Amino acid sequence: MFVSKNSRFIGNPIRKLDLLAEKLSKEGKKVIKLNTGDPAKYFSPPKTLQEAYIKALEENKVFYSSSIGLRELREEVAKRYKNYYNLDVTEDKIIIGQGISELIYFLNASLIDKNDSAALFRPFYPPYLPNLLFFGGKLLLADYKEEDGWSIDIDALRKKIKNAKKKPKYLLIINPNNPTGGLLDRKQLEEVVEIAKDFDIFIVSDEIYDELVYEGKFTSICEVAKGIPYVIFNGASKSFVATGLRVGYAIFPEEDKKSTELYKKFIDFAALRLCGNTPAQYAVAEALKNDKEHKEFLKDFLKELKQRIELGAKLANETGYLTTQKPKAAFYIFPKVDFSNLKIKNDKELVEKLLVSKFVQVVDGSGFGTLKHIRIVTLADKETLQEAFERITQFFKEEKKA
Ligand code: PLP
Repeated sequence: MFVSKNSRFIGNPIRKLDLLAEKLSKEGKKVIKLNTGDPAKYFSPPKTLQEAYIKALEENKVFYSSSIGLRELREEVAKRYKNYYNLDVTEDKIIIGQGISELIYFLNASLIDKNDSAALFRPFYPPYLPNLLFFGGKLLLADYKEEDGWSIDIDALRKKIKNAKKKPKYLLIINPNNPTGGLLDRKQLEEVVEIAKDFDIFIVSDEIYDELVYEGKFTSICEVAKGIPYVIFNGASKSFVATGLRVGYAIFPEEDKKSTELYKKFIDFAALRLCGNTPAQYAVAEALKNDKEHKEFLKDFLKELKQRIELGAKLANETGYLTTQKPKAAFYIFPKVDFSNLKIKNDKELVEKLLVSKFVQVVDGSGFGTLKHIRIVTLADKETLQEAFERITQFFKEEKKA
């Protein structure tokens, strides 16, 4: 093979059927894409952000900026975590990435040697896995308990880690979670921190949906993990509706040996790719500065998102073949499929056939580590969601066993 052996792990299940969807669209089919969590397809970012982006271009701010990110932006990120979660961190401990996606790469490239492992809860956001496998890493899997509102099976995690020959390099928490829409409460987070402490494991906390919560209260890892090594990932993609600007950040609040080593390695990786998108960083800095406007913006945004996710969950449950837990956050539902009365046998076959025959694109659960679910993005407007579920219902009718 011309390409490297480990490149076989690279790919993104969320986008796997994109080319097929494009081909169908080109043929004139009205494809409904419910596969990517991209709010910018249906909503606009705050005005300040748009204006600041244009201004940055007009002022010719298109130069290579500092590798670790514009100081203005890092200062605003530090302020945000202080104001929201009472975290004391200076801007020099913050590194701007081209979305969290790039930071996931930095993470694994920095930490993983062949046969190292990382502990992930299943179902997980797909890109974490290929990044891990590419560097020769392995999964140490623990499960969320679906029947218990997608809470963490903490005893199973402890047992797994205890029995592992080699302790995982890091333990990932995605909270609120994609794809389940679950939210861990403070107690569960404290239990995770206890385990990390007991086994001396570094925590990675992906908090990209921290502001998109409909039920319960979000707790940041920094509120419960003081004094233990961890990094936070967050960014502008979701709550600032700025997916295409590619601005994410990593925060390293602690001074221990692990945090410091990893932080320094992130600086090296950041330097290797010169810098992030400069005008986008100016835009996000300005948007973060205008917290009052952001809060106002968020009120309407959340109201809409809540209506859409609730509608999606209701329509999914009404199909008779999908059952979904009530989502507490983000904009995904992750229903379980009842295959017992269906001709199709598994999630992968389901999503492919649904796209080809009904032109609705969703993602198979396999991409997230489970086999009996599909992920549906609920960002679309009411009419689009209704039409999508009419097609899905019709699809199940046609697939019903005789
Ligand atoms: N982390 C999670 C949990 C996500 O759901 C997503 C996008 O869907 C990302 C990270 C990617 O974020 P970014 O746009 O900052 O690369």
